[in-house]
Amino acid sequence: MATHSTKMLILGSGPAGLSAAIYGARAGMSPIVVQGIQPGGQLTTTTDVENYPGFADVIQGPWLMEQMEKQAVHVGTRMMWDTITGVDLSRRPFRLTGDGGDVYQGEVLVIATGAQAKWLGLDSEQALKGKGASACATCDGFFYRGKTVAVIGGGNTAVEEALYLTNHSDDVTLIHRRDSLRAERILQERLHAHPNIRVLWNKEVREFVDGGGNVGLVGLRLEDTVTGEESRIDADGAFVAIGHHPATELFRGHLDLDDDGYVAVETGSTRTSVAGVFACGDVMDKHYRQAVTAAGTGCMAALDAERFLAAVEFEELREAAE
Ligand SMILES: Cc1cc2nc3c(=O)[nH]c(=O)nc-3n(C[C@H](O)[C@H](O)[C@H](O)COP(=O)(O)OP(=O)(O)OC[C@H]3O[C@@H](n4cnc5c(N)ncnc54)[C@H](O)[C@@H]3O)c2cc1C
Repeated sequence: MATHSTKMLILGSGPAGLSAAIYGARAGMSPIVVQGIQPGGQLTTTTDVENYPGFADVIQGPWLMEQMEKQAVHVGTRMMWDTITGVDLSRRPFRLTGDGGDVYQGEVLVIATGAQAKWLGLDSEQALKGKGASACATCDGFFYRGKTVAVIGGGNTAVEEALYLTNHSDDVTLIHRRDSLRAERILQERLHAHPNIRVLWNKEVREFVDGGGNVGLVGLRLEDTVTGEESRIDADGAFVAIGHHPATELFRGHLDLDDDGYVAVETGSTRTSVAGVFACGDVMDKHYRQAVTAAGTGCMAALDAERFLAAVEFEELREAAE
């Protein structure tokens, strides 16, 4: 078992963690990034990325993350292939344990562990991910211009995604397994007033129907939750909007989480309830959840961390001089 010590310890190697690393390295904090089970984060699971600024041509998610990692390493980041399974945030340096027993110590800690979308769990859904099945209308809606799309869910996110998709499609179906929505009233009013959205009540998706070959999704097979009756609708794209799992189990009881399990931060900053611990990216952001916002808050976390350390070091010097 080895102990790895640094000024700045970062958990997660998605856009948030790697952006924090780039800024942290350039501020002289010699970051260590513990990559976790998904090196490069969620963007490595997609193909075309058209909305990350700086690239006029369509780029590939895995390529973008490879570039970010190379940039982070180039400026002095140490990458570790490990997953953190234990944390002690009771004193600085913070002490974290990897699943093989290695110990990671950081004067500051940046949490960038992301939030994974929840899926329905159907084999056909899994098979059609990226070929019609998506969990992010902001990311993929543009690819369904002029096509028929469906959204599955009944909360705020589902209604927002359905409304967002009307920018691209004039045939949007919201599928909900109950007879009323959980979304805020104002969102529901906008939904029901929209001429291009219809709602199918009491319906559960049983199958994402594959058109075969390279066609991808062509429809959804549904079952009525009251009558058990089966039906089918056409759909070129189906957006599952039933929530996200922020990767924060590790931190429960160690710092404040909000009601949905996201790391709570002070408004307008990345500071958590524990001094010296910062959070960035999807793990603290349930509203935007985009690569560019994750990168932006990653930058903020590194700047917040640098200012925190500078203040602590100044205090220590002053105390030593007294
Ligand atoms: C299929 C798909 C397509 C998408 N398309 C787009 C798009 O076109 N444009 C866009 O802007 N956004 C897109 N997104 C959203 C975007 O990927 C996320 O908003 C972004 O990746 C969030 O970055 P993050 O760094 O906060 O977290 P993530 O990318 O989720 O990275 C989390 C990191 O934390 C690590 N981790 C987790 N737990 C631990 C642990 N215990 N120890 C150590 N490490 C840990 C993981 O291994 C991973 O490296 C897409 C998402 C998906 C799933």
